[in-house]
Amino acid sequence: MFHEIVAQLDNMVSALQTLLYVDVVQPFFYRFGLMGYDEDTYDALYWVIIGALEIVVTYLALRPLEALRPIEQWQDRKALRADVIYTWIAKLGIINIAFFFMLQPLFDHWQSLISIYNVPNIDIDSLWPGVTDQPIVSFLIYLVILDFAGYWYHRWQHRFGVWWELHAVHHSQQQMSLWNDDRNHFLDDIIQAAFFAAISLFIGVQPNQFVVLVAVSNFMQSIQHVNARLPYGWLLERLIVSPIFHRRHHAVGYGHEGTKYGCNFGVLFPWWDMLFRTASWNRTVEPTGIRDQLPAPHGDGRSYGQGLLAQQWLALARIVARLTGRRAYAPGTTDAAN
Ligand SMILES: [Zn+2]
Ligand SMILES: [Zn+2]
Repeated sequence: MFHEIVAQLDNMVSALQTLLYVDVVQPFFYRFGLMGYDEDTYDALYWVIIGALEIVVTYLALRPLEALRPIEQWQDRKALRADVIYTWIAKLGIINIAFFFMLQPLFDHWQSLISIYNVPNIDIDSLWPGVTDQPIVSFLIYLVILDFAGYWYHRWQHRFGVWWELHAVHHSQQQMSLWNDDRNHFLDDIIQAAFFAAISLFIGVQPNQFVVLVAVSNFMQSIQHVNARLPYGWLLERLIVSPIFHRRHHAVGYGHEGTKYGCNFGVLFPWWDMLFRTASWNRTVEPTGIRDQLPAPHGDGRSYGQGLLAQQWLALARIVARLTGRRAYAPGTTDAAN
């Protein structure tokens, strides 16, 4: 059943891929003498279509909820513009495509090393024949393993100062919405893509499963940022990360400060936060953002940039300042340099 739905969707996307390729890409490439990039572009187009569908589905499902049951009322929606651009860039796979051209050869090389030297890797499918080779079972196992890795990746983003400066791009949005999830530093996106691709390779995720894993994970993460009251209830809230749980992660003074550098790091499941004691179930709605963005005396009115380019650039500037000792700020303390 699950397999059939995925196969149907795959057929639909493939048909669209061929259509776009023959009618749009090929004539364009032919005209500008770019036929050398032909095959790679055909493959990349698959991701572009998946991404566009994700945006449409997410918007249609979540935007009405934001209009009907908002958690926060805003004066204007201008602050969301950059996030919309991030979403299109990330979901249309520009990062994936860059990744594909830069890191794919490296991964192919690793993969051949793994088989030549017999490097041990885990083959989930053959762990328990008849059970773990069922697509739905292996899919859920992959989801849990990758989510566990995601929890630690996210904790490290908060734990290490230089990495935090990249991740601060995500946290600097003070108006959380369904568009917030993809607001990240591009460097962090690339590190993250490499990190998850390496783990997926190690545990034997097949490319077609990887597409579904990414799509499911993306949709769940967009819901977490939505500016809408959704009644998850005690049980569901402990099974999957709810908007109120993730909003706590973005709350000034709670989500990215203290001895554990924050709380509620879970990406899809809150289980790791419960296990490693970083969960906060407090439902109080607090202002979101980073403390030093607040005007004095609560913060020092630091700007993390309004537009995408400023946000990207300022993160690098903060890293340089940190490395050269001009910035002693760490999450959990106030800015000692000012
Ligand atoms: Zn975070
Ligand atoms: Zn977030």
